[in-house]
Amino acid sequence: MKQEPGPIPEADLHCHTTASDGLLTPGELVKLASRRGLKAIAITDHDTISGWSEAEKVGSKSDTIILRGLELNTVWDNKEVHVLGYQMDGKSGIMRERLLELQQSRFDRIKEILNRLEQIDIKIPIGDVLEYAQGESVGRPHVARALVKHRHVINNQEAFVRYLGLGAPAYVPRFKLDTVEGIRFIRESKGIAVLAHPGLQGLKEDTIASWVKEGLQGLEIIHSDHNSIDQEFYSKIALKYDLIMTGGSDFHGANKPNVPLGKWGVSLDVVWQIKGLEN
Ligand code: AMP
Ligand code: ZN
Ligand code: FE
Ligand code: FE
Repeated sequence: MKQEPGPIPEADLHCHTTASDGLLTPGELVKLASRRGLKAIAITDHDTISGWSEAEKVGSKSDTIILRGLELNTVWDNKEVHVLGYQMDGKSGIMRERLLELQQSRFDRIKEILNRLEQIDIKIPIGDVLEYAQGESVGRPHVARALVKHRHVINNQEAFVRYLGLGAPAYVPRFKLDTVEGIRFIRESKGIAVLAHPGLQGLKEDTIASWVKEGLQGLEIIHSDHNSIDQEFYSKIALKYDLIMTGGSDFHGANKPNVPLGKWGVSLDVVWQIKGLEN
């Protein structure tokens, strides 16, 4: 069962925007955060930092603190492991180069998905997919929306079941970094590396300990998919290895209707802890 937290937290440190697969633009997200009374949010789009500038611009006109974040979908032992990075240097050459590679591989994969759809007589122009991917990070949710637009399915869920999900005819895996590579990449870009929702993958203490040696600095304890057992289990590990304990909703707008902004999160102290590790 999902953990229902108490009053609205001060900081939601896991939010997606239209720069990846969220439905609100970075500016709309910041305005909503401000209306909800959040003191801080982090923009953590998948494989892109293109939402940062708009969020920071809108944020500078409100009281909401904006953390620059990123979520990398990495792979370890055949499991998808998500690594959050906070406060990277957006101008870092390594950062730009690496993100460009990831975005290019996403784009190539979308072309392959469309080829496979064409083989089963479903023709979707790539422009229709890119129209939904306003940012640089194109993914299956954008193909799903194009399939709805062309009336091949009635909603995104059906698009995944019939065409895009694992085992479906147009399923194409995405290139992913190795988890250690992801952690190193964030650290080399002067960011703080945090393991996202470890409970979702059931990650064990010794695995996490090995990543701490590689530079992991925090664990996401509070998350919309973590229950109280996950929270307790990973809090103990965080305390033992002196890791920052972060939290956020994993907000995607109406793409995840049961996950409202700011329902899961942490106190502002955590934001200062993250900023304290910046170098
Ligand atoms: P991608 O990064 O292109 O592989 O797409 C992954 C995203 O697709 C996830 O972040 C989810 O938002 C979405 N997704 C994955 N599986 C489903 C599903 N069965 N139904 C709806 N959305 C899904
Ligand atoms: Zn997402
Ligand atoms: Fe994630
Ligand atoms: Fe996420």
